[in-house]
Formats: sequence, C-alpha cells, structure tokens
Amino acid sequence: MIGIVMGTAERSDVAEEKLKSVLEVLDERPIVDSALLELLRWAAGYYHHPIGEVVASALPTALRTGAGTRASEERWRITTAGEQACARDEPSRAPKQRRLLQELRGAPRTPHELRERLGDSWRAAARPLTVRGWIESALAETGDAAEIPSAPQPGPPLNDEQQAAAAAIQSGLGRFGAFVLQGVTGSGKTEVYLRAAQRTLAEGRSALVLVPEIGLTPQLLGRFRERLAAPMAVLHSGLTERERLLAWREAFSGRARVVLGTRSAVFAPVSNLGIIIVDEEHDASYKQHDGGFRYSARDLAVMRARGANVPVVLGSATPAIETLHNLDSGRYTRLTLTRRAMRAAPPRLSLIDLRAHAQSGGLSTPAVQAMTAHLAAGAQVLVFINRRGYAPTLLCTACGWIAPCTECDARLTVHLAARALRCHHCGADAPLPQRCPQCGFAVKAVGQGTERVEETLTSVFPGVPVVRLDRDVIRRPGELEQAMHRIASGEGRIVIGTQMVTKGHDFPNVTLVVVLNADQGLFSSDFRAPERLAQTIVQVAGRSGRGERPGEVLVQTEFPEHPLLNGLLAEGYEGFARTALAERRAAAWPPFSRLAAVRDSAASAEAALAFLTEARALAEDARGVHLLGPVPAAMAKRAGRHHAQLLIESRERGGLHRFLDTWLPRVQSLPSARRVRWALDVDPIELF
Ligand code: ADP
Ligand code: ZN
Ligand code: ZN
Repeated sequence: MIGIVMGTAERSDVAEEKLKSVLEVLDERPIVDSALLELLRWAAGYYHHPIGEVVASALPTALRTGAGTRASEERWRITTAGEQACARDEPSRAPKQRRLLQELRGAPRTPHELRERLGDSWRAAARPLTVRGWIESALAETGDAAEIPSAPQPGPPLNDEQQAAAAAIQSGLGRFGAFVLQGVTGSGKTEVYLRAAQRTLAEGRSALVLVPEIGLTPQLLGRFRERLAAPMAVLHSGLTERERLLAWREAFSGRARVVLGTRSAVFAPVSNLGIIIVDEEHDASYKQHDGGFRYSARDLAVMRARGANVPVVLGSATPAIETLHNLDSGRYTRLTLTRRAMRAAPPRLSLIDLRAHAQSGGLSTPAVQAMTAHLAAGAQVLVFINRRGYAPTLLCTACGWIAPCTECDARLTVHLAARALRCHHCGADAPLPQRCPQCGFAVKAVGQGTERVEETLTSVFPGVPVVRLDRDVIRRPGELEQAMHRIASGEGRIVIGTQMVTKGHDFPNVTLVVVLNADQGLFSSDFRAPERLAQTIVQVAGRSGRGERPGEVLVQTEFPEHPLLNGLLAEGYEGFARTALAERRAAAWPPFSRLAAVRDSAASAEAALAFLTEARALAEDARGVHLLGPVPAAMAKRAGRHHAQLLIESRERGGLHRFLDTWLPRVQSLPSARRVRWALDVDPIELF
C-alpha cells in the first residue's frame, strides 16, 4: 500500500495491532510542501471532505501508485565480471545473451534502446546474465524534457490603464492582496497578466496561472511561451496520466517557472510561488461539480495566495456577483480596463421583440436584415444559440407524442446528420424514427439547435460560408483550432456556435452578434441563472467589433420588457450586477448568506427523498441555519437515477460550518446514507 505520511505522533488512539509500519519511504522530500499542505487541510475543513481524498485529488494518480517525484529510467550496464566473461566470449552457447553482453559493453542502455537493437527477447536474455552477476540494472535520473525557452518577445507598449493596473499588481508583489482586473475581452487583460508574471519571474519567483477549461488554447499557450522567458508546465484535464506526471514533476522540481492549467492546477506544486492569476474568474468550470470533493479553484486560489503571502489577480469582463461583493466591501482591489486595446466603441446592444416580428427557422426578420447589411459591408457575423443538435424536440402532430428519454426527465434531441435521437443528459442514443411509434403518423422536429440554424443560414444566405462550433463538430482540440483558423482567415463569413464561441477567442472582423434564445436564462429555479445569462451576452458581445467598425449585438427575446435585459441594455454588466446584488440582498441569497447543498441520487424517487428527510430530521434543533427541502431536482430523473437536494442556509459562514461539523457525522451514520449516493456541496454554484 502506498500512503502519505501527514505527521508523526508519540501516541495513537488506534489500537496497536491495527497500526502499520512504514516499510519504505518513497520520496526524499515531501511531495506536498507545508504551505500547500496547509491549503489542503483548510480545504478539507471548509468543504467538509476527508483529508485523504483531498490530498489524493491534488496529486497525479501515478504518484500514488509508485511513480517517483523525479524522472528516472531503468538503465542496464555491464559489471566487471561481465566484462571478463565477455572477453572470454562467454556465454558460448547462448548467442542472444552474448549479443546483449556485447551491446552493454559499449555503453549503458535503456530498455527502449535494447528493444530497438535486440528485439523484444532481450529481457529473456537479461535474466540469466543478471543471475550470474554479469549485468545489472539501476534507476538513473533522466533530465525531463524541460522546455528550453527562447528569448522573450517584447509586448506592445501598455496603454495608461494597463500601465496603472500592472503597476498596482507589481507593487503588491511580496504580500497578499486580491486584485480584480475587470475589462472586456480584447481590453488587454492578458497583457497585464504577462507584465505581472514577467516581474514575478525577474524577482526569482514563479507564477501560477489558472484558466477555464475551454480557455486553454494553443494561442494562449503560445503567447505565454513567446513572452515569458521561462520553462512552463501545463496541466489540464486532457492529459494522459503520464503527461500529467511529467508536468507535475516540472513544477515540483522547480524547473518550470510558470505553471499554467485548469481547475486542479490550483494544487500544483509551484515552488517559490510569487503570484497567482485566475483568468475569467467567473467561469463555472472552476467549480468541481462531480465526485465528493467539490471545491472552487477560484476561491482556493485566493486562499493559497493568502497563505503564500502573494498577490492574486482575478480577471474577467463579467466578474462573479460574489467577487463584485468582495470589491464593494473593500476586501478586493479593483483595476479597470475600459478601453479596448485595439477597438473602437463598445458594441451597441438592442433587443428584437419576437412577438412583433415574423421568424423563420428561429431567425427574426430584423436579424436577417441586419445580417444582410453586415455581410454586404464585408464583415463577419456571429450567431449564438446555446443548444446543439438539430432540434430539441421530436413531436407527432397527430397524437402529441414527444420523443422522451427513458432514463431522464428530458426530451431527446434530434441530430439530423447523424440520423439519431440523443439525450444531452445521459448520452442515450437511438435511431431517428420516421413515424410516430404510437400512431404511425409522420413526426416533426420542433425548435432550433445549431445544426438546424446552420441549415437555415445556408439557405437564407446561399453561397456564404458558414462555420459551426459546437461539441458535435468539434470533438478534438485540433478541430477547434482548424475552425478558428477558418474564422480568423475570413474564409468563414458566418459563425454559428454554442457556449464554445463565448470564450477565449477574438473574432476581430465580426461586427454583428445575434443571440437567438436569451429567454432560457430569464426564468429558472436557480437564482444564478440570470447572472450566467448576462455573462454570456456580454461575453458573446465581446467577440465583436474592432477598429473603424463598432460592433452591434441583437438579442432575440419574447420578454423585451424584462428588467434584467433592460438593465443590461441601459447600463451594461455593471448595471445588471447592481440590480442582481440588490435582489440577492433582499432575498438573502449568497453572497449575503452562505449555502451548502446535500445532493443525493437513488434508484427510486422515494429513496432519494427518504435519506434527505432523515438527514433533515437530525437537524431539528439546529440554530443559526435554515434547512430548505428536501425537494426533487428540477430534472429529477437523470441517467436512470432520481435526484434530490436539501439546502442549508446560514447568515454567516461560521454558523454554517459549526452546524456542518456536528451534523455531517450523524448524517454519515444514517443507515439510509448507504442506500443512496450523496455528496455535500459547499458554496454550490448550480442549484436545482
Ligand atoms: P484580453 O485578455 O482582455 O482579452 P488581450 O490582452 O488578449 O485582451 O488583448 C487583445 C489584443 O490586443 C491582443 O491581440 C493584444 O496583443 C492586443 N493588445 C493588448 N494590449 C495592447 C496594447 N497596449 N497595445 C497594442 N495592442 C495591445
Ligand atoms: Zn403519434
Ligand atoms: Zn437521458
């Protein structure tokens, strides 16, 4: 068994016969330094999760199964006795063994080299030679393939605002401070990150840079590589275990001076940490949604910076409401980039009233007219719809049958090109029927997805090349780059896409953005849905317009009088955020209260509710917290299991955690806890 020594003690409460001895110490120096260990302990406490699992999630799996912290490789060499035997032409009747011996006489060899020279059978030949003491193997340290940086490229001279922001961060180096760098896409935030990182490196310290899952693009990596004269380790979820181990070692050894990665990179072993940068800090991918340990990498980044006594920079065009609240209360420092580095005015936002205008295939007449005008002016157009597939519903107009997912409380989405019906929640995949299975009448696809909008656009604008961006057409990282290239080169004139288009990429020649279905986010049981909608609209809008041509953004809606949309229209994200903060204060939602959710799932709806009901009963005398629920999830059945949730709300953090400390162990010991799958989510960001 491989374990992690967390500390030593003279005495233990565990019975002596149950204690195990340490047989071997695998690492010469602790694989987690004391500052990082402190962070992990804090996280275990805060998220009420066992420290063992917390530490495990911070380390590459390979380390927990015996891989060393340093790269080493098996090396075979010949012994003195072997040299002598070889000189006597021994072993005379084993030609393969003799060849191996002769091979090693030249130089020590790795298994890879031996396989190349002698074929796979060399191992069989090595065994008797080892037994006779003629050859031996040892693990030798190899130089990891550290990226050797070339001379850094100089960046553009910073504008006044960038300079002020960079100066504020640079003068904050060496002590804790949280800076919020607020600026729309293209306002030059990355340039500010780069300056701050350069200064940190110049002072001999390292930088940790976190980016959202979808934001880690080759362009971004290329920009960091080009501009920072330092070896870099990159950590993200797409790595193989081996690659993850290599990147982790680069960071651990201190060779990598910049560690750039997605969520779990917040735990990377950065030695001599000097700054933490969190790009697009509002992004939902910073929150771990699955499994037991549901942490927020953004929040942990702030804690880590505090522990390490270094600054943390939270960058976003649309900071999370929580982050804005921290600014209001003076805990964070605001740095603003109002000017777009290479652009003219911010885009003009207007609404299209879907009740007043004819539409076809989801596109209203004013939207089509605007597109025609922008295309005629030689610009590109971006159409955003947050739904992939051809249509969200397959309907029989004769009997009213709607293709359902048998495993979820959801409809199956029509994927026409693949001739399939798919569930976007559980992955169920069935052939697309021609006729209603209930009455035999012809079925009809209702509503729009990216695939159908692409079809509509192709027929409305014949001959105008369309590039589609969604998870059905972009399955591998390289495909995204190819699509981006077709957009950047101007070959694609119309871009249609899902959430995928909202992040990280700049489309300088896009002057018109059309948001097709804003209304989903307006009415939701989740109090955070409007925040996400506003962020999406602002982020998509941020893709457009540069130079002489200001951008235009059209949002199609059936609710043009909705206060959120109007707040956004009149005052932009700031105005929206002010309204949202006031609403949250009035309703005592976070950040004006603290939330935790216990979520469970079971084979039956009754079992899912029964466990949470018993858990709630254990809290009858609880003080300082409110329990809400249990209730079935909005989509109660997913992938064949029934989901439910119990919310715990408290006016202040201390009260919530004191309650959880005493309540959770009792919940854990409920017999019904073993009949469901459940997890605690502290500071949940998605509610249902
Ligand atoms: P953000 O990170 O806010 O999206 P970037 O830093 O990526 O913004 O800047 C957008 C574009 O503008 C990039 O191509 C960048 O090289 C350029 N840029 C940024 N700052 C300046 C500047 N001060 N002068 C000229 N170009 C700049
Ligand atoms: Zn029917
Ligand atoms: Zn399903």
